Amino acid sequence: MNVRRDAMLENTNPYDIVKQQIDRAAQLLGVDDGIVNILKKPARVLSVSFPVKMDDGSIRVFEGFRSQHNDALGPTKGGIRFHPDVTMDEVKALSMWMTFKCSVIGLPFGGGKGGVICDPRELSKAELQRVSRGYIEAISSLIGPDKDIPAPDVYTNPQVMGWMVDSFSRLNGAFSPSVITGKPLILGGSEGRNEATARGCVYTIVEAMNDLNKPMENATVAVQGFGNAGRIAAKLLHELGCRIVAVSDSQGAVYDPDGLELEPLEQCKDSGTVRQYPAPYTIELEELLELDVDILIPAAMENSITSQNAPRVKATIVAEAANGPTTPEADRILSENDVLVIPDILANAGGVTVSYFEWVQNLMNYYWKEEEVNEKLRDMMVTAYRKVVKAAKEYDTDLRTGAFIVSLQHIIEAMIARGWVD
Ligand code: GLU
Repeated sequence: MNVRRDAMLENTNPYDIVKQQIDRAAQLLGVDDGIVNILKKPARVLSVSFPVKMDDGSIRVFEGFRSQHNDALGPTKGGIRFHPDVTMDEVKALSMWMTFKCSVIGLPFGGGKGGVICDPRELSKAELQRVSRGYIEAISSLIGPDKDIPAPDVYTNPQVMGWMVDSFSRLNGAFSPSVITGKPLILGGSEGRNEATARGCVYTIVEAMNDLNKPMENATVAVQGFGNAGRIAAKLLHELGCRIVAVSDSQGAVYDPDGLELEPLEQCKDSGTVRQYPAPYTIELEELLELDVDILIPAAMENSITSQNAPRVKATIVAEAANGPTTPEADRILSENDVLVIPDILANAGGVTVSYFEWVQNLMNYYWKEEEVNEKLRDMMVTAYRKVVKAAKEYDTDLRTGAFIVSLQHIIEAMIARGWVD
């Protein structure tokens, strides 16, 4: 975990980082300070603690948060993270990234995010269910299909969403599928939602590779993190002919310059960790980020690429499947070194985009086929990607700032239309 320790040399608080990112785009756009200040704070943050009966009969009190950043464009939307390191500042920052993410794609949502301080890997399934229900009950007055719509994030999944939608529906006295997305299919989930973050990320990579005149066939890929996003991105890129040379999870990293085989790799993950894969090389977690590859996908947590390791990143493209994996200082270094960063608010927006489709299908009570979902997703991702590239060119900046510029323009237009500012 050297990366995180070294990162302490610079400010890695995600809440401070997102504010810097807003400032940068707002300056280029010439946005009034008053407007910028509205966007630098979440409109509402709820901090909750709730008791949960553990399997051994003891009572444990869990702490959680829900942040609603800005609802100018529509109800707030964003996932719920279960992780031992969750902090309020992190949840605030993640809710702010959600606002900009929804806006860059053109979704009628603002940004929200939730988190519970817990380690699901140490909870039994019954305990996890009680934590999920306890949290949703604690925040129930703040959420609703046209208020704030949660979804999965790190260490939460469709099953957790299923428990949550059940609890909310009981409290509400009516089945309310559109209050939460990322649900199991049988409860009104959408085809393609589970793969959507990775699929959206791959669509942006294909655009970027095309722009660079580089073929996908045999392109080398390193993936940091083998959760929902990283694992499925590796699979989809493999299907497009790329060579997945390195992957990691929290237990370790494996490397084979000739390409890893996906099926055995997934089997290793299912039974524990990718580290069990019989690769010719095991490498340190930090080394994966510094491999000479065409495509690097940080798909783990915040602050993976910092001022400390950015000078050694050799990838042509960094596609941020994770939220907040690159610090502003690292951004500057990567840009100087001509590394093309596809920013999180664009690269991982596929998840919330298909969440939007899920919400729409719930409201209609009519469901689409997976091909239809994927085609609509591709259309929205490619359109957003082109808009961001255009804005970045126009303002002579990187894609992150370009994405923030496109987002800011929508959000400000909505704030003016509502009469919050003029
Ligand atoms: N947690 C995901 C994200 O960070 C998805 C959010 C959603 O579907 O609302 O974008």
